[in-house]
Amino acid sequence: MSGITTLDFKTMVFMVVVLMLMLSVLLLLARLHADGIRGLGHWAFANLAISLGMVVVITQFDSQPWHMIPGAVVFALGNGLYINGIQAFEERKPDYRIPIVLSILVAVVDSYLLIVRQDIRLTMMSNALIYLSAYFICAKMLLVKLQPPLRTAYWFTGSMFLIMSLIMGARGFRAFMADPIVFDAISKWPVNKLTFLFASVVQLCTTFGFVLMLNYRMAEKLGQMAAVDWLTGALNRRNLEDSAARMVANCKRYDLTVAMLMLDLDQFKQVNDQYGHQFGDEVLRQFADSVRGIIRESDLFGRYGGEEFCILLPHISKQDALALGERVRVAFANRLISYKNKQVKCTVSIGYSDSSATGYSLHQLFTAADACLYLAKKQGRNRVVAHPGLLAAESLYEDVAYNDA
Ligand code: GH3
Ligand code: MG
Ligand code: MG
Repeated sequence: MSGITTLDFKTMVFMVVVLMLMLSVLLLLARLHADGIRGLGHWAFANLAISLGMVVVITQFDSQPWHMIPGAVVFALGNGLYINGIQAFEERKPDYRIPIVLSILVAVVDSYLLIVRQDIRLTMMSNALIYLSAYFICAKMLLVKLQPPLRTAYWFTGSMFLIMSLIMGARGFRAFMADPIVFDAISKWPVNKLTFLFASVVQLCTTFGFVLMLNYRMAEKLGQMAAVDWLTGALNRRNLEDSAARMVANCKRYDLTVAMLMLDLDQFKQVNDQYGHQFGDEVLRQFADSVRGIIRESDLFGRYGGEEFCILLPHISKQDALALGERVRVAFANRLISYKNKQVKCTVSIGYSDSSATGYSLHQLFTAADACLYLAKKQGRNRVVAHPGLLAAESLYEDVAYNDA
């Protein structure tokens, strides 16, 4: 302990402040390319405010006590901006009343205690309590139930805020216990050095935590982009096949029926030809929206390619799966799609297969559903078709070819 207190305190805090400023620049640079990820600007400015606050307070230790007020106020502003940054990162609207209220609170309380009451000890205790509360709110917002890997970054940053909150608590408590005489020479009070040094280092770590949070959030976004079809928001082909294979394997394990619907928009080429490709894209988007409004969270919905989609329904009876297919068909047929003053109604044809007929082979399920879809087209489109026998999937194509002939 005595080793730490003999270190050149001001130089160390100066170094930490320089580091924090550099990290603020890093956050601002990262912000340039963090498409759609918010909160980085708030954190960068929070860091600036905290650093500035610390510098002002420390340089004013030996002068009139009330000279510390601006530093304490800016520090509180920084605290509030951290909270705003977390809100923004969480895609919530930042509540800017928080930093304003915190700063005004510190300004009013400190002015009263330092100018009117001239009580440094009480000022230290009340400031510690306000900062403690703000840090605790940050910790509480971050130490939440979350999926890894984002959890690692959240919990690291949250723990740093919790430690900051404890440091503030310890500082307030120490001031409460201290002999009032000690406050006549505040700059020499060992607890000041200790808390400032610890707080500076932990403060640095919170910024590392933010960078880590940004990193994981970006990785998550990239993962989502790689898994989802950008036009319709449905799973893309690769993710659909991977997820479908897992779902089929799970259903096999628990001996549950898994059903598949293959969906293909009717005469879609005509829609494109008549109304343009952009209109066609809008039809695809609205179709996907309409399906999402009907299926359950546990169902899989993916774009197989072009205007062909696939729905996988785990643990469902044939009757329910066909009813769901029918609901999708009717909902889309009744939907008036309008885009840039043009309006049109489209339909979809649906082929059905399930594991009780084809077995738990993804390939067989696809082939059988596709064959039924082909039948639906042959029979006049805008319908749901399950092959009456739904025998071995491969033989269905022969049946279709036979019907065609
Ligand atoms: P059918 O009823 O027999 O399915 O006829 P169809 O016209 O829907 O089928 P076809 O396979 O002849 O045409 C599919 C069209 O889908 C052709 C292609 O230009 C269009 N298409 C595929 N992907 C997209 C896309 O991402 N956007 C748009 N606008 N059109 C697409
Ligand atoms: Mg089509
Ligand atoms: Mg097609």
